[in-house]
Amino acid sequence: MRSADVLIVGGGIVGAACAREYARQGLSVAVVERAALGGGATAASMGHLLVVDAEDGGDASEFQLSQRSLRLWQDWLDESPAHAELAEHERCGTLWIAADAEELALAERKCAWLTARGLPAELLDAAALARLEPQLRPGLAGALRVAGDARVYPPKVAAAWLQQAKVQLIRGEVTAIDGASLRLADGRTLWGAMVVLCAGLASQRFLPPGCLLPKKGQLAITQRAPAAVSHQLVELGYIKKAHLAHEDTVSFNVQPRPGGQLLIGSSRQVGRSDAPLDLAMLRRMLQCAAGYLPGLPELSLLRCWSGIRPASADGQPLIGAHPELARVWLATGHEGLGITTSLASAELLADLSLGRAPALSPAPYAPARFVA
Ligand SMILES: Cc1cc2nc3c(=O)[nH]c(=O)nc-3n(C[C@H](O)[C@H](O)[C@H](O)COP(=O)(O)OP(=O)(O)OC[C@H]3O[C@@H](n4cnc5c(N)ncnc54)[C@H](O)[C@@H]3O)c2cc1C
Repeated sequence: MRSADVLIVGGGIVGAACAREYARQGLSVAVVERAALGGGATAASMGHLLVVDAEDGGDASEFQLSQRSLRLWQDWLDESPAHAELAEHERCGTLWIAADAEELALAERKCAWLTARGLPAELLDAAALARLEPQLRPGLAGALRVAGDARVYPPKVAAAWLQQAKVQLIRGEVTAIDGASLRLADGRTLWGAMVVLCAGLASQRFLPPGCLLPKKGQLAITQRAPAAVSHQLVELGYIKKAHLAHEDTVSFNVQPRPGGQLLIGSSRQVGRSDAPLDLAMLRRMLQCAAGYLPGLPELSLLRCWSGIRPASADGQPLIGAHPELARVWLATGHEGLGITTSLASAELLADLSLGRAPALSPAPYAPARFVA
């Protein structure tokens, strides 16, 4: 007997976005989740919604996916004023901080790239940056301000999207996928017209070897403090470091949370999928942040945690048909951008799997690229 039209494996932000999209198309959706809904990489993340440019080692396809997704995020926010409140959405904007003349030149290139595509971006000199964010250390060269970027609290959004989709929630661990059927660890078999695999890093279990790899990250959050910073502050070296294939890195990335807490990131450890905090990396990350925000060490940390980014071998998510299994579709491997790009990923996957003309070119994300 058919359990639902669409069987989705994984109730993270990507599975929730897919559930919502298929439900919008009038299909019945069941989500199979082995743990907490929105509790995987989704719960560990910063929830920064950012437009990605292609000026510093990135790829234009990341820009297209992020830009389309930010449009869809806005559509969802426009559906009801309650959505912004529920999501803890705030259009804080991003300041890409330039520490020196070389990084300022990069800020200029990024600014030109974004404005040429009609996106609001402005260059700040050192004095303007100091006026806007007086807690930053003196001597910085300037910044690029992208005012449209925002932040949300992703686990609450995932829960809301699943609720909107009126999904049938099935608790259990998927152990085998065979075409349009799923086998669960407790012996149950579920049937659907299609299966959508959104299991984050664990999707690797159902893929040819080497498609996905873990990139561990750590975050810390401070106590509430009177308005310390107002933008998401990111050092300009961040994306370059994020693309380093085999090195452990830390970057300055601080986000203001409601009530004045500061969320401090971030670290990247390629190939690490263990849960415990790595105290040496955490120390490096906090020292890096204090190098930009000298007042930071005066704030107590309330919590530190780690999460695993589900990265693909070439940095692009896998969105499209499973390379080997008919009627199985993939939306996974979003690394450090899955909150931002969840909605466009879901839209693209629904378009492809339902035989509609996609809004974006699917080629850069086609899972078949990993099969010789
Ligand atoms: C430290 C850190 C900071 C980040 N910051 C940002 C950010 O600021 N902005 C941004 O856009 N992105 C950010 N990300 C990336 C983002 O969090 C991920 O790309 C995104 O959450 C991936 O979502 P997902 O639904 O694919 O995976 P997950 O959230 O991991 O969800 C997968 C789900 O599948 C379930 N599952 C797995 N296997 C099975 C199985 N066999 N049976 C049943 N269920 C199963 C899991 O339990 C899990 O709930 C960050 C990530 C980290 C770690």
